[in-house]
Amino acid sequence: MRKKIVAGNWKMNKVFAEAETLITEIADALDEVELINTEVVLCPPSIYLEMTTDVAEEANFMVGAQNVYPEDSGAFTGEISPLMLKALKVDYCIVGHSERRKYFGESNEFLLRKVDALLKHGIRPIFCCGELLPEREAGQHFDVVKKQVEESLFHLGAEAFARIVIAYEPVWAIGTGVTASKEQAQEMHAYIRQLVAEKYNAKTAENTTILYGGSCNGKNAMELFAQPDVDGGLIGGACLKAEEFMQIVTSL
Ligand code: PEP
Repeated sequence: MRKKIVAGNWKMNKVFAEAETLITEIADALDEVELINTEVVLCPPSIYLEMTTDVAEEANFMVGAQNVYPEDSGAFTGEISPLMLKALKVDYCIVGHSERRKYFGESNEFLLRKVDALLKHGIRPIFCCGELLPEREAGQHFDVVKKQVEESLFHLGAEAFARIVIAYEPVWAIGTGVTASKEQAQEMHAYIRQLVAEKYNAKTAENTTILYGGSCNGKNAMELFAQPDVDGGLIGGACLKAEEFMQIVTSL
């Protein structure tokens, strides 16, 4: 049975003391719930990764980075390598978030390199894909997502691909308060699973965790997560308060 995941992408939020409080609140709240076949992943800014992995050793969550540079070391000022993440016992790393594609010009080819660099060091990519609003309005959303997945992931063999988590994040839904309908989410998730089945095989597709992201919150999570091909969520704004994040986690 494929794993369900709720991952919180903190983005560039929280100063140190706030981060410490949020991590502790979530760790305490997770102690009070029983999660079956479900992983919770906290993705704080990189400066808090060490603190987060320290708490994670005794807590019921995993840790993800928000970014990585696809080289082990070298003259790449300001960047963080997969080796560094590995040394901190980071489990996951977000790759291909629409904000990185937009503000940092990250291409499908560059994202492929990140995917490979992470897998080489045993860190699982949470690979984000999703269309812009004009692309959806033009009926191109399936083609856009197909190209992103094919160009950054489908070079992998089946064994490596089994380590990938996919997050479908329609860009028009990210941070906008406009959520994809449960039908739109299910339709795209089923499509992505079909792509995986065609490239690899039915078993690999069945085992692939596909998350939804885009204005998912405590109110709409249950409806979205009830869709057969939606295996959890990648949560932005709503992960910054422990209570709402936990509401989402317990909606799975
Ligand atoms: C995200 O940034 O991955 C995201 C889903 O953001 P939000 O939940 O705020 O739309």
